Amino acid sequence: MSRKVDKTDEQWREELGHDAYVVLRQKGTERAFTGKYHDCKDEGVYKCAGCGTPLFRSTTKYDSGTGWPSFYEPIRPDAVAEESDQSHGMIRTEALCAACGGHLGHVFPDGPAPTGQRYCMNSLSLELDREADPEDDA
Ligand code: FE
Repeated sequence: MSRKVDKTDEQWREELGHDAYVVLRQKGTERAFTGKYHDCKDEGVYKCAGCGTPLFRSTTKYDSGTGWPSFYEPIRPDAVAEESDQSHGMIRTEALCAACGGHLGHVFPDGPAPTGQRYCMNSLSLELDREADPEDDA
């Protein structure tokens, strides 16, 4: 699949810190309740920590109790790509940044209204832009 942001593994390794590299480029998962955003209630727009593309509005974030930042909807339908993930003996839906292919987390069908979806994200995959208005058009 072609991506808007296309870098070599070596470039990602140099640009991202070790922990973000492991999550974004190697599909790792941060330990629950350890990330900087699971409990964050600040307003703004959550952007991809790899490429800066806007991904989620703070207004769609909710407390899922899982220890990972959770949202019920991406900022735009095409901002987050979804792929089937059959690793670790489970069938899950992986969520990726559509622009750079970075691993964000997984999507589960047990979220709140209005979508019923839970975008279960890694804090390490996100960067909250507190200057951005979450109500603005994406
Ligand atoms: Fe990205």
